Amino acid sequence: MSIKTIGQIKKGIKSIEKTRQFEKESLVHIEKFFRFSLNVKRSAKKRIETAPAFSGDCKEKIEKGEHLADFSKIKINDNFLLDKFHKICEIRAEINAKEMEEIQKMKKAIDNEKIDFSKIQQNLARGKIRYFDTLSKKIGVGKELLHSIALAVYKPIFELTVEEKKDLIEDYVWEKGSCPMCGTNPGMAKLEKEVGRRLLWCPLCSSEWVYRRMKCPFCENDEQKSLRFFYVDDDSFYRVDVCETCKGYVKTIDERKRGKEEKTIFEIEDIKTFYLDDIALKEGYKKI
Ligand SMILES: [Zn+2]
Ligand SMILES: [Zn+2]
Repeated sequence: MSIKTIGQIKKGIKSIEKTRQFEKESLVHIEKFFRFSLNVKRSAKKRIETAPAFSGDCKEKIEKGEHLADFSKIKINDNFLLDKFHKICEIRAEINAKEMEEIQKMKKAIDNEKIDFSKIQQNLARGKIRYFDTLSKKIGVGKELLHSIALAVYKPIFELTVEEKKDLIEDYVWEKGSCPMCGTNPGMAKLEKEVGRRLLWCPLCSSEWVYRRMKCPFCENDEQKSLRFFYVDDDSFYRVDVCETCKGYVKTIDERKRGKEEKTIFEIEDIKTFYLDDIALKEGYKKI
């Protein structure tokens, strides 16, 4: 599940703080960012049309292994986008004064209609990151900044879009490692309490889907000897599942080891476990 209330954000920030990976100032920024996402999601409800993202018979598509949504088809009010792009630019400028110059360029490009929202939406939806290279050169704004601003605006919209269809994939054992809604590779995983079903999480639309325990979601390798996992602390409920064939890794939350009845919110858990990304990368594994 994704963030739905301010209360979840506050609780999440406290738990991020406990990991001692961030300065106070960074925590304030993370909170602002989460609040922005929630605001986009809440205010988008009446300003977007999600139905065009789903064409054809969804059940049939799932059975054929085709992903269900095409986010490039969501209809979004232009003024709404304009407002949200400006807002996230203001937040970014507050966060990092060094980015101020670039942010000004970004705002200018938005106002001068040098940024085509529909193209941004289309390329984000299809995972075509190279587009941001081209646009970056055109408007003189760094690729990473551009991509993260676009993602901040569109991710909550994509999350909202899949929410009404999530029942379709809830208990379905999807044979592919990529998201059944949008085709993105998983960002994290969890092993559920009790039976320990493995669920993968999509970092683009926040869908969660059931996937086999002993299978790599990136290369679909299911040979047990090349799949393993490691813990950093023995008593931790975080572990890293790795595949020796493709060198991919997935940070995993083992809910069976978690004492409290705490619900997993992956957006928060992902930040809490940045240190695991560092370790996995140092060990020679990669984000796929
Ligand atoms: Zn997805
Ligand atoms: Zn693999």
